[in-house]
Amino acid sequence: MSFAIAIDGPAGAGKSSAAKKAAESLRFVYVDTGAMYRTIGLYMLENQVRVDEEEALKAALDRIRIELKYEEGVQRMYLNGEDVSDRIRTPEVSEKASVVAAIPAVREKLLNLQRDMAASQDVVMDGRDIGTNILPDAELKIYLTASVEERARRRYQELIQKGEECSIEDIQRDIADRDYRDIHRETAPLRQAEDAVYLDSSDMTLDEVAAEITCLAKERM
Ligand code: C5P
Repeated sequence: MSFAIAIDGPAGAGKSSAAKKAAESLRFVYVDTGAMYRTIGLYMLENQVRVDEEEALKAALDRIRIELKYEEGVQRMYLNGEDVSDRIRTPEVSEKASVVAAIPAVREKLLNLQRDMAASQDVVMDGRDIGTNILPDAELKIYLTASVEERARRRYQELIQKGEECSIEDIQRDIADRDYRDIHRETAPLRQAEDAVYLDSSDMTLDEVAAEITCLAKERM
């Protein structure tokens, strides 16, 4: 029997960093489902697919092959055989990912891939609908959030450290737009599962969040 930890929450709450760290200490596999939506978003952007046209969208989805590979413990995303892990991290791709994530056919394509990954191994999986929809029987569910100001501040620091120019107001607006789309879409919207533990990371360090998740998991093993 495998053990699953589902972590959901809004953009920039620190899900992926905390999930990665918790997975490392528990020796679980970390699965970043946002990267899968980003990969589909990237394909649609680069191929100028009209995602609002059903036929064009479906034809494009049939041409997309997504693979996750683990290289020295780090998840890499492959799109039709090509490593796109770095290219999916731009603001344009973030935006497109949240647009395509509202389309049922896109979610349908990723559902089994995500469930299969959790069926065969112990995982920490993060996203928006993992506890509510993908893994409703996960042994541990966390809803991780933080204030929009704090989430924007963290993203800003990250980008500045990478040497990218950006404004904190733009980041805050992008985050708020994505949250709005993720919460208000009809299919698998972002919400806290009834049995999820609510964690507000606004005043917590990354290590504290990861330690809390690890501790909660150990209690349930
Ligand atoms: O987590 P990340 O910010 O990389 O996700 C990019 C976008 O993918 C989110 O804004 C959201 O719209 C979508 N997503 C989703 N369901 C998931 C994971 C991500 O709808 N399980």
